[in-house]
Amino acid sequence: MNTPVWETPWPDGVIARYLTAGGATVDIQHNRRYYDETALLDAVARCIGCGLTEGFDDGDPRDLSASGILTMNVAAARAWAQAHAEKCRALPMPGGAQ
Ligand SMILES: [Zn+2]
Repeated sequence: MNTPVWETPWPDGVIARYLTAGGATVDIQHNRRYYDETALLDAVARCIGCGLTEGFDDGDPRDLSASGILTMNVAAARAWAQAHAEKCRALPMPGGAQ
């Protein structure tokens, strides 16, 4: 039985999900890295259908604030995910392997 993609639980760390033309998803996650012992959060978008991955790090020190991240990196990741989801026709792997 197929479960609609919007009813399946989101993987840990996924903050936004876009349904692609092919029925897969583009998932956006925060990517935590460290610089001078300070955690920086960037966004990573990954298409489950074709595997294309794009990172969003503008190098802006204001990324240190959570609110700054949401307005800068995640906004860019959302725009990329939306554009990719509209044209990607790669099918998700049967069984939901990710
Ligand atoms: Zn894709």
